Amino acid sequence: MAMIPIAELRRLGETQELEFKRSLSLMKEGLTTLCGMVNATAAKGTVVFGIDPSGDVVGLGDENLDSAQRTLAQHGRQKLDPPLALDIRAFLCEGKPILILSAQRSRAIPFHEYGGRAYIREGSSTRQLSVLEKQSLSVLRNRDLHNGPWICDQCGAYAGTISCVEVTSAGPRKTYRHSCGGEWWPATQPISPIEGQ
Ligand SMILES: [Zn+2]
Repeated sequence: MAMIPIAELRRLGETQELEFKRSLSLMKEGLTTLCGMVNATAAKGTVVFGIDPSGDVVGLGDENLDSAQRTLAQHGRQKLDPPLALDIRAFLCEGKPILILSAQRSRAIPFHEYGGRAYIREGSSTRQLSVLEKQSLSVLRNRDLHNGPWICDQCGAYAGTISCVEVTSAGPRKTYRHSCGGEWWPATQPISPIEGQ
């Protein structure tokens, strides 16, 4: 098993994108938190099982890590919608086994739900999104509903409006391709706890 120093874990991210869970009995809480992290502006998050919220490495004791990894992956597949690819890795930290769970939201997906509810991470806490907030996220993150401004994911160019229409066999449709080879994505997000801090 690969080893990872606790200092490196702490460097993985800010509180916004990293959370420690003491044990695997907190699997539901961990996935709720992860759902909130990927739905925030950063669109990614990491939850570490086997570390106390204070940062003490407690380890997962006698847990069978292989089966724990499978259970976690299966639980995620059943509860996360749309599907979210989970990266689950076992490490030894200060000689104790831990599991690192991380995920990233595709920009094409406005938000993920866990167990039928959408969450958002704000600072170090996680709360449920209201119906209105979900609608707002859909509009601002769904390219077909977005009116600008835009940012190119390759060259970083900004544009107030884009008017790229390509004619396909199914008729004219919007395209988000930039001349540099990149793609235009909504440049602003409505819920952005990180900005302005
Ligand atoms: Zn570009």
